[in-house]
Amino acid sequence: MTTSPAATPGPTNPPERRLRSVVGDATAKKLATLGLETIDDLLRHYPRRYVSLGEMTDLASLQVGQYATVMARVVEAVNKRFGPGGRKTRTEVTLTDGNARLTLTFFSQPWRQAQLTPGTVGLFAGEVGQFNGRLQLTHPLYEPAFEMIHRPRSDQQWRTARDSFRFEEAFVLQTVFAQRRHAALGQTAVPRRRRSGGLRDAFEQQLPFTLTDGQRAVVAEIEADLAREHPMHRLLQGEVGSGKTVVALLAMLQVVDDGAQAVLLAPTEVLAAQHHRGITAMLGALAEGGMLGGAAEGTRVRLLTGSMGAKARKEALLDAASGAAGIVVGTHAVLQETVQLAELGLLVVDEQHRFGVEQRAVLVDRYDTKPHVLVMTATPIPRTIAMTVFGDLETSTLSELPGGRQPIQTTVVPAAERPDWLARAWDRVREEVADGRQAYVVVSRIGDGDKEAGERADPEGPPTRSLVDLHEELAAGPLAGLRLGMLHGRQHPDEKDATMTAFARGEIDVLVATTVVEVGVDVPNATVMAVVDAERFGVSQLHQLRGRVGRGGHAGLCLLVTSAEDGSPSRERLDAVASTSDGFALSRLDAEQRREGDVLGAAQSGVRSSLRLLSVVKDEQVIADAREAATAFVEADPELTTAPDLRAAVERLEQSQQADYLERT
Ligand code: ADP
Ligand code: MG
Repeated sequence: MTTSPAATPGPTNPPERRLRSVVGDATAKKLATLGLETIDDLLRHYPRRYVSLGEMTDLASLQVGQYATVMARVVEAVNKRFGPGGRKTRTEVTLTDGNARLTLTFFSQPWRQAQLTPGTVGLFAGEVGQFNGRLQLTHPLYEPAFEMIHRPRSDQQWRTARDSFRFEEAFVLQTVFAQRRHAALGQTAVPRRRRSGGLRDAFEQQLPFTLTDGQRAVVAEIEADLAREHPMHRLLQGEVGSGKTVVALLAMLQVVDDGAQAVLLAPTEVLAAQHHRGITAMLGALAEGGMLGGAAEGTRVRLLTGSMGAKARKEALLDAASGAAGIVVGTHAVLQETVQLAELGLLVVDEQHRFGVEQRAVLVDRYDTKPHVLVMTATPIPRTIAMTVFGDLETSTLSELPGGRQPIQTTVVPAAERPDWLARAWDRVREEVADGRQAYVVVSRIGDGDKEAGERADPEGPPTRSLVDLHEELAAGPLAGLRLGMLHGRQHPDEKDATMTAFARGEIDVLVATTVVEVGVDVPNATVMAVVDAERFGVSQLHQLRGRVGRGGHAGLCLLVTSAEDGSPSRERLDAVASTSDGFALSRLDAEQRREGDVLGAAQSGVRSSLRLLSVVKDEQVIADAREAATAFVEADPELTTAPDLRAAVERLEQSQQADYLERT
């Protein structure tokens, strides 16, 4: 036995020193149960037996009927098909100790093959049986090849071990998701079939544009989901500006037509207010149900946010409770309180790619009959991340932009190297405004000493402009004479809302703002955006930001103003954003540049800590294979009764996710 330096006797560690002061309370307590109180006790607690790691069990000595734990090496693992049509599988794994052999048998667990690759050394436990004259263990418990990963004898060994653990991580996670999807099939929801001649039809007839093929396909998928007797759990992800809102609205109206209500949750008050405004405007007379002059078959759209006045809030709550409001738009904060709804049919969660399963569950679990759930992401996310973060959801994707949408031209403006370009950039803003258009100027922080920075804020980097300073500078200099507005996260919600409304009405020419405009803000007349200190923002964030311009029939222009030097990694990122408008490609690039933890987001730390070897960015094939294997396995054995080791691993992961969530509430 080796001892750690801390426990070596010497002048600082006399043998009589108490263990507690060396190893800490928790460990000392455990050692005390063995009667070990001092360093000397520990040193003299001699091993009773020596087992060299990796020493194999003599397989020839096994007896039928004995419960045995053996250490052995995998020779081969094969999946054999049997039963009618060869639909069942039996995985036969041959172990050896170098002389004798032993067979492991697993029924309907074909994924074991990927885990027990030849060369793997592990501990296998089970009752020794006999089949066709050969010794075997059926559905043994096992711990794989830790030695191969900790003390490999060849490169091949650690690679084999790493691949097998990697698959295991992906498989356990995908089993969790497969079980959740399976459980959803066991839940009932009220089917909300499409009713002809209702609000949805009336709305479709008055749409000022035709839906893209992509939108049409997704609308059909959702329409079918809503008509089922099980709750829909669907993720709608799509390119910035691909028109997710109208897809969600059609779904909401289908539910309203069936006499139920839809709730739309937005992550910020600005966005909730905008959705409320936008939906009310799109519906027109259809949103004036019960009001004089409103369409006979109309409904009401109500906004519920924390900052509303008491009167408006009371009205909204009443309409929600009576069912007069078919659509309720709000922020999470509000919905987590006890808002009474007459009959919730559909919950739409917008732009929530950082929210975990548990937060959705909190909203849904309040209702005995489960509502249908549609989750929308702000930006496209790579497939692997969709499978890891939203693995319990079915996915729909909108990858095209509505026709007639002008492409957004993006240009990097190196302010330090080319001051003339910067001057030209502000001139472009003036020109757009002179043409009757509007502009955004986005900055990374509000004022001095604050931290509202872009995701890549770097304390070592060059100093950045604050919103307050820049606003003043622009008003006095390059944008003098234009109507400038200011928007940031620390303003009172009323002020934010008033500013957004004024901007939407064209009463403000240039909105100088922090990333509060990042998510979903929609002012079609805005055509140019200048992002100042652009290197402070992440790739996806920039893509999301520039999606705010070019939404009307006019071409969009995005100016990435930066002091990052040519050839620096920051500049390369900006060049990448400028060179493509493919959000999926950029989201991949973004993910590759972040650490795994950031990719998964704060709400996912349970998942994160379970993934030690698996990269959600790079291991796409492993994740896809594991997902397929897990789905098939859970279908055959939803309770995982034939795989107690897997069940234990799944429970551990579920518990860590649960713990995460409890910590956050
Ligand atoms: P996002 O998917 O980023 O949330 P929005 O739903 O905000 O995008 O839609 C962006 C803009 O495109 C909105 O002004 C919306 O009215 C408009 N739009 C949506 N679908 C179409 C379409 N098929 N044709 C033309 N414009 C559309
Ligand atoms: Mg949106």
